[in-house]
Amino acid sequence: MTSSTLLETPATAADHDCARAPRSLAGLTRDGLAAALLEIGAPERELRMRTAQLWHWIYHRGAASFDDMLNVSKVLRAQLAERFTLARPQIVTEQVSTDGTRKWLIRLAPSRESDRPAEVECVYIPDVDRGTLCVSSQVGCTLTCSFCHTGTQKFVRNLTAQEIISQLIIARDRIGDFPGLVPQDGKGSNSGSRLVTNIVFMGMGEPLYNLDSVVDAVSVLSDGDGLSLSRRRITVSTAGVVPKLPELGEKTGAMLAISLHAVRDDLRNTLVPLNKKYPIAALLQACRDYPGASNARRITFEYVMLKGINDSPADARELVRLLKGIPAKINLIPFNPWPETAYECSDDAVIEKFSDIVFNAGYASPVRTPRGRDILAACGQLKSETEKLRARALLAAGD
Ligand code: SAH
Repeated sequence: MTSSTLLETPATAADHDCARAPRSLAGLTRDGLAAALLEIGAPERELRMRTAQLWHWIYHRGAASFDDMLNVSKVLRAQLAERFTLARPQIVTEQVSTDGTRKWLIRLAPSRESDRPAEVECVYIPDVDRGTLCVSSQVGCTLTCSFCHTGTQKFVRNLTAQEIISQLIIARDRIGDFPGLVPQDGKGSNSGSRLVTNIVFMGMGEPLYNLDSVVDAVSVLSDGDGLSLSRRRITVSTAGVVPKLPELGEKTGAMLAISLHAVRDDLRNTLVPLNKKYPIAALLQACRDYPGASNARRITFEYVMLKGINDSPADARELVRLLKGIPAKINLIPFNPWPETAYECSDDAVIEKFSDIVFNAGYASPVRTPRGRDILAACGQLKSETEKLRARALLAAGD
């Protein structure tokens, strides 16, 4: 049975009053934390040590209150609490699919770029040997891929690094995946294996159009003293913003996934309009040059299976030909339908045939099992309530 819970009451205008709301430290980089400490007058010589303490409590233990920080002096705790919080963005709804997938609708506070509150979705997909968190990098998306539900939503703004990181903090809060708030004596600490083991930037948005925030977020997510996700377990997915690929590789060391979906430019131009700017040949050349790609660190090519559109054996053979020389694996994604779409998912037998051709050419070609379809949490089904909210705000403003 699908369950859906409204966790919080809807936000009021006062909740989003930037000037009055104290800033949260949860989700900041080390530099951000150091700056906050300086603001409350912490001595320079203690800065490294104090930052490390905050870091440990926020990212390792999951502290949601300064009172939890037992090895921080009471005076400093009080000073921090006077000026800052450890609040997470508000969870509007939490939905749990029959298969254990969870989807959160998260309300973000207004930012400088947008005076409106905005909402994003974040999905946790538990599996036998791993747990993957699918995070969003933008509110809405500019790409308008024709088969993607998110693409039908207007772009609102980029997420800050803090907002990206907060998605993992929220997930760990909700599924009990922080080692816990116990004294650091090594006893009683649930510090063993984590439930969220992998992060994929496959939620809403195009991560490479928000690269600075993604770079900062990956550095916090992968920090061994905190959230501790290995960079090899962080995958950034892109529709192919070619000029940004070298920087992504150099600055994050993250795994790369490319949303390819078609093997001919004319078709890809309609499915992924970004292709008109960066056609297939240029994209694949950037993949050949991607820093750190190797047989041990293969590039994933995502290929959505659309009935009668891109799923023929000839397409499969052309895919194999195109990827020659690239350390690659191919992820076949059955199309997830959404209301009003004209596309259909390829039949199972067709997907199997396609997968066999790719596999027999020497590439891993797993077919992704759709997860969380009943709660519209599967790939490309994410679409937040932002537009409704915006309409409501306009009404309230009397426009
Ligand atoms: N903009 C980035 C990140 C989004 S990832 C990118 O394009 O890679 C989301 C993945 O789900 C992409 O591979 C996207 O093409 C795929 N997808 C989108 N809509 C889908 C749908 N309806 N069914 C299956 N996969 C879909």
